[in-house]
Amino acid sequence: MAGVNYRSIDIKTLIRKQELADFFTISKYGFSPYRACEHGCSYCDGRAEKYYVEGEFDKDIVIRKNVPELLEREITRIRERGFLCIGSGVSDVYQPVEQREMIMRRCAEILAQFEIPVVILTKSSLIMRDLDLWAQINNKSRFLLMMSLTTTDESVRRQFEPNASPVEERLETLRRFKDAGCSTGVLAMPLLPYITETEKNIDALTDAVIQAGVDFFMPGGLTLRPGIQKDTFMKTVQRCYPGFTAEYERIYANSLSSGAPDRQWMKRNQPLYQRAIMRSGVSPVVPHTVFRGLVQIYEEVFLVLSLMKTAYEYRGVDTRRLSRAIGLYRNRVSEVRKPIPRSRSLSFDTVDRELAAICKSGEIRGVVQNEKTAAFITSIVLDRKIFDFRDMKFIGGS
Ligand code: SF4
Repeated sequence: MAGVNYRSIDIKTLIRKQELADFFTISKYGFSPYRACEHGCSYCDGRAEKYYVEGEFDKDIVIRKNVPELLEREITRIRERGFLCIGSGVSDVYQPVEQREMIMRRCAEILAQFEIPVVILTKSSLIMRDLDLWAQINNKSRFLLMMSLTTTDESVRRQFEPNASPVEERLETLRRFKDAGCSTGVLAMPLLPYITETEKNIDALTDAVIQAGVDFFMPGGLTLRPGIQKDTFMKTVQRCYPGFTAEYERIYANSLSSGAPDRQWMKRNQPLYQRAIMRSGVSPVVPHTVFRGLVQIYEEVFLVLSLMKTAYEYRGVDTRRLSRAIGLYRNRVSEVRKPIPRSRSLSFDTVDRELAAICKSGEIRGVVQNEKTAAFITSIVLDRKIFDFRDMKFIGGS
């Protein structure tokens, strides 16, 4: 893209791994071929100082040239079942430079030879170029496309996401991936106070994504970390919506390092989100059926509990007891799992077996110190029940 500096580097290692999957992207593994992002969204959290992205965020792009070679080598070492997320919070893997570099296409060709489920979060229709390969991967394991989209108003999109794909292209991308049998979902975040965080915009957006056949629709608000992120965003607000500047200063006046808005503002918006989720008729988080059977059972339980917590938060339910139970569950899994990465003779299935044993014996009640959560975990582990986050109930099992 004109006016953008590209710097190519070689990196030493590629795949990052988490002890338990990230519930937001349901992924255990991750990597990104790029650093910084030409899409140049003015609200991008990746601009924040805490990510140490050097140079100008949307003008100095780092290309990790040897990603495909490293992927080929490291993919064979994966022993624990889980999703691979390609991307990061500070780059979009299908930003314009990918058109020429084709790193994602080469990665997809490699991944198509294995049986690892993949998730990609993007704002770009360029991903359609590689649909043939992602569909192949979906047939073997699973491919989940998470599309970020917050408005159907093209002029608003241009103001805040200048170089990302137009709205209609993103909707078309969702339709094409759905038609190819892939799982799809929309992250409607960040919704911008008074601009896109309005009933009118959310209704129009909900209608559009439902027509695109998505499996889930996840709305979320804006965080503004003090520093470069907030300054960049506020310049766009001052330029395009000067009348809202004072309101934004008020909502984000507490300058929390997390960038969270005023509590009252969050409370005020809860019914708006709840209404959108009800109207959409789809899950507010990644459905259980998307990852069931594709991750270790102890991961599956962790993901369902964490996603259930998010779904309850959308409903305004107090989740403190559930959070505590999730923390205790996590501690137990960590303890049992600890020696396995260092031992070739031990398998991660050992952790699944231990979980089944403590569910059978009832010991799980002592582990999570919560009867209801223990019964819930047992239903997933022993009865292989499927949880539906729309109606917050089990819908079947095997
Ligand atoms: S596409 Fe994502 S990573 Fe890129 S600028 Fe926009 S928000 Fe940031």
